[in-house]
Amino acid sequence: MANKSIKKDQVKNLLDKLAQSNQLIAPIQSEGITLFKPVKSGEGVVLDYQNALVPPKDFFFPQSEKMFTYDISDPSWAITPVEGVPNRVLFGARPCDVKSILLLDKVFDAEFRDDYYLDKRNKTTIVALSCNDARHTCFCSAFGVSPGEAEGADILLTDLGDRYLAEVLTEKGEALVSSCANLFTDDDGKGPAAKEKAIAPAKDKQLQISLEGVKEKLDNMFDHPIWDTESLRCIGCGTCTFFCPTCHCFDIVDFNNQSSVGYRYRCADSCQFANFTRAAGGHQPRPSKKERTRQRFMHKLRYFVDRYGDFGCVGCGRCLEKCPVNLDIAQIINKVKEVD
Ligand code: SF4
Ligand code: SF4
Repeated sequence: MANKSIKKDQVKNLLDKLAQSNQLIAPIQSEGITLFKPVKSGEGVVLDYQNALVPPKDFFFPQSEKMFTYDISDPSWAITPVEGVPNRVLFGARPCDVKSILLLDKVFDAEFRDDYYLDKRNKTTIVALSCNDARHTCFCSAFGVSPGEAEGADILLTDLGDRYLAEVLTEKGEALVSSCANLFTDDDGKGPAAKEKAIAPAKDKQLQISLEGVKEKLDNMFDHPIWDTESLRCIGCGTCTFFCPTCHCFDIVDFNNQSSVGYRYRCADSCQFANFTRAAGGHQPRPSKKERTRQRFMHKLRYFVDRYGDFGCVGCGRCLEKCPVNLDIAQIINKVKEVD
């Protein structure tokens, strides 16, 4: 489908329309924080935000999620599956967060297919939003993400001042535009050039970080003393992993309140917690902060590449901003590069 354009004063109408036949998930501001929430209309949706505090990962991999209920007094031990999600539109996700969903696909839609994740993923149309500006912590370009590209999205919008350029990337995107055809017009042909100009500040302002040679160095740094020194200040709070759009570890727990009826749920876990790897019998393969800190950075910059052919980070900058002791991945990348 050719590039489309939508006037800014039509975006609320678009959102209102989408909310009528889908669950609409869009960025809103609450208490000064930008975050993604299900909304009933376009009222209150903000699209001039830099990046949301919490990534939209929660709508594909919720922090806590019921898997099924059971009743052990039932002679057949029947389990009741949870209902899937309705058709949804995730509107306004930034390119780094869209890339993080592609990385989650590598984990949850691979050798082991995760039906909980796939139900949400398959029923969601993603409308991404290019970045016209960058936060002081952004460095997506280091990981090959562009502020003006969003592979994995169905439509990519770019703010061109009085209108948005709408690049329709998939059949799902075409279906969305067709369902609201009266709100879009054909792009006049000037959109792509205007887009390059619009996203230039986001490219220029972000942290310029190179990953050249980092993976290769980490291949030989498992026993390097950097992990002793860097882990000293970590307080093991797990903030970095909970805000990260690519972290995906979880635990599975049963809850039955001492009755025959109960449910099983899974909840996000963190490699930064001491109990994360503790095994039955008490064996603990990562007994100190050193091993846990090493695991986090090795997983994103070395093991994920070995297993899935890509880095497990998208340069969103959340861990740079939120770690209370400033132990962040950009710093680690730069320090690894200085190692002889
Ligand atoms: S490691 Fe940090 S910068 Fe990379 S994706 Fe996770 S939160 Fe964002
Ligand atoms: S690196 Fe920072 S955010 Fe992560 S667990 Fe350690 S102190 Fe918490």
